Amino acid sequence: MNMSEPTQFSATGLRGEMFRDEPMSRHVSWRAGGAAQRVYQPADLADLQHFLRQTPTDESLIAVGLGSNLLVRDGGFRGTVLLMVGALTELRMDGQYIYAQAGVPGAKLARFAASNNLCGGEFFVGIPGTVGGMLAMNAGCYGGETWQKVRRVQVLTRRGELMERTPQEYEIGYRHVKRIQDSGFMIRDGVRSAEGVTESCIPHPEACDEFFVGAWLKLETGDVEAARKEIKTLMEKRSASQPLQLPNAGSVFRNPPGSHAAKLIEECGLKGRRVGGAQVSEKHANFIVNVDKATATDIENLIEEVRAEVESKTGVQLHPEVRIIGERA
Ligand SMILES: Cc1cc2nc3c(=O)[nH]c(=O)nc-3n(C[C@H](O)[C@H](O)[C@H](O)COP(=O)(O)OP(=O)(O)OC[C@H]3O[C@@H](n4cnc5c(N)ncnc54)[C@H](O)[C@@H]3O)c2cc1C
Repeated sequence: MNMSEPTQFSATGLRGEMFRDEPMSRHVSWRAGGAAQRVYQPADLADLQHFLRQTPTDESLIAVGLGSNLLVRDGGFRGTVLLMVGALTELRMDGQYIYAQAGVPGAKLARFAASNNLCGGEFFVGIPGTVGGMLAMNAGCYGGETWQKVRRVQVLTRRGELMERTPQEYEIGYRHVKRIQDSGFMIRDGVRSAEGVTESCIPHPEACDEFFVGAWLKLETGDVEAARKEIKTLMEKRSASQPLQLPNAGSVFRNPPGSHAAKLIEECGLKGRRVGGAQVSEKHANFIVNVDKATATDIENLIEEVRAEVESKTGVQLHPEVRIIGERA
């Protein structure tokens, strides 16, 4: 990975790498947006735990996987990004379960499952994110959803406590996961800022008090050859229907109940609509592609333009699935 100069943290007993003023365009699939004040890529889980124990509790923290559902505004993110990809990479069988750490990519998980004669995890191949991001989003496709397969998760609190939780401790829905707290109100990932809860996540303004670091998944034993074939078919389907040659973040909007965001956007004649270097894809109307050095502002303005136009023409309110954080330029 091509990153800015790392600062070693060996003086404090850390083994990971700290990058300052790191352009987040290097870490998000839109290849656009501002810088993070700090990016910490831990060496492993124990190192991340050690890092969090030393991090002031008022530091804004956000976990990032492959950045395939994320945009950091051009003014940047004031705080520390915890980079899980390339760091929390353990993937193994643990009895009848697959144990996968937060930084494991979906495609690797799907192939690992198939090679262990397990079925039902083929859909993970279509999600270009990590286990952590898939847990945070309840990512899914072709009828499968991440949390359908989860038996337990492993989390780290921002104070560095390692815990296990069950799905019953979360409210889980379509691209929606929130932890149900003892106090009765819910809190889940996103960003926690020094001033309290930041307004900067469009769909997700809740504070963050813990991060997913691993999960135990239960898949069924089955026909490995059929699973492999299915993985191949799903990948072909994807490249036929999605503009994968251009930087994008998958579906921009959630599907409204009983309808499809892509259909509404297309019916409103918005395919090809452009703001700066950002364009509504001609191939898939719910994708916004970076066609020519788009800024985060271009992308966010185009999201808003599409949302407003669909609402005024159809009366349907679209809600972004992508997460937007950071300061405006
Ligand atoms: C071409 C393309 C196709 C896509 N297709 C699909 C699809 O079919 N179905 C689907 O659901 N999604 C799809 N997506 C969107 C995206 O891949 C998923 O939302 C994925 O789960 C995001 O994972 P990530 O690791 O990239 O998360 P990131 O984008 O890095 O982060 C997304 C959110 O998750 C949070 N997060 C990340 N890691 C953690 C963690 N360890 N603990 C707590 N919070 C965390 C972040 O803070 C952020 O709020 C697609 C994206 C692309 C680019």
